[in-house]
Amino acid sequence: MPGTTYTTEEMLARLIAFDTTSRDGNLPLIAFVEDYLDGWGVPHFRVDYEAGKKTNLFATIGPAIAGGIVLSGHTDVVPVDGQPWTTKPFELTAKEDRLFGRGTCDMKGFIAVCLARVPEFVAAARKRPIHLALSCEEEVGCRGVRPLVAHIRDHLPKPGAVIVGEPTSMKVVNGHKSALTFATEVTGLEGHSALTDKGVNAIMVAGELLAEINRIRQSLIETGDPSGRFDPPYSTVHVGTIEGGTAKNIIPRRCAFQWETRLLPMADPDYTITRFDAFARTLEPAMHAVSPTSGIRTDTINRVPGLAPEPHSAAENLALHLAGANATHAVSYVTEAGLYQQIGIPTVVCGPGSIEQAHKADEFIDRGELRKCEAFMEKLVAALV
Ligand SMILES: [Zn+2]
Repeated sequence: MPGTTYTTEEMLARLIAFDTTSRDGNLPLIAFVEDYLDGWGVPHFRVDYEAGKKTNLFATIGPAIAGGIVLSGHTDVVPVDGQPWTTKPFELTAKEDRLFGRGTCDMKGFIAVCLARVPEFVAAARKRPIHLALSCEEEVGCRGVRPLVAHIRDHLPKPGAVIVGEPTSMKVVNGHKSALTFATEVTGLEGHSALTDKGVNAIMVAGELLAEINRIRQSLIETGDPSGRFDPPYSTVHVGTIEGGTAKNIIPRRCAFQWETRLLPMADPDYTITRFDAFARTLEPAMHAVSPTSGIRTDTINRVPGLAPEPHSAAENLALHLAGANATHAVSYVTEAGLYQQIGIPTVVCGPGSIEQAHKADEFIDRGELRKCEAFMEKLVAALV
């Protein structure tokens, strides 16, 4: 007995109705997808990120052999807290040619197109498999998919290409920057503000570090991106938060700041932190002379690898053919694509909807974008037989 069939919009309505805000997990959505796949006899398994709360689902349609195509999407969405929505965010609402709801664009639209085509994939994928990789915890630093990527590397026949369906307006994206996030903490020595020589002022040391970050920023701008494909056309560095000090007449013992760098995919991913650390080490002797317990500590909070362009890779050629396109693009946001590329699978990003509509109140996807993605998948079906 065949399973349930859905149009893309019916499937999207089901997916949107699950509130999969990253912090709350995605299990009800995954259970729904598992039921649906069971109806079509498609084998699948989970790789948990956080047991009992957040999981990744991997399904294989067709033979369990190498060379398959992975269609990859994250199931989590960003919060709606404090956003001025005029529609119900977890209810698909159609207004003319736009479909509103949290995740319509980023990226349940892509997942809905893929899932609605499962019956066609089942019929067509006789020689070459199609895999569905549905991840969790992407919106908070591409963390959730990592155990799934490791599982694919260690235990599965190697897929031939990955298409990550983040919103690109169905343009084929073969490059994005990496993102590295750091937390720096300066520990000084407290004292009366009249006796500056008896203390180590953590805020003033942090000021030196921030000045170095500005110098790094300048040199990144000067190095730039010869390809001119990225916006802005250079690697960036930025400080997002800072806190420190107790009162204006106390030498501050602590100052902490969080910062990030987004590097061109061909750049040395450790350039910023290596240079920053080397500078920090030059400040410490003077601090230690006053207080041996003072110091500067920097922790890496997260590293999302960039996607380095691989012209004419299997993924790029396939996606260009399916999208009917002849040019590739680069984007500024990070995706899971770099993680798949790191395990040696050619990967591109291509999905419906515009990143302009992602993460905002009244997020929507144009029906036309879904049509384009459906056409892409129809050609994929044709390419399988
Ligand atoms: Zn996304």
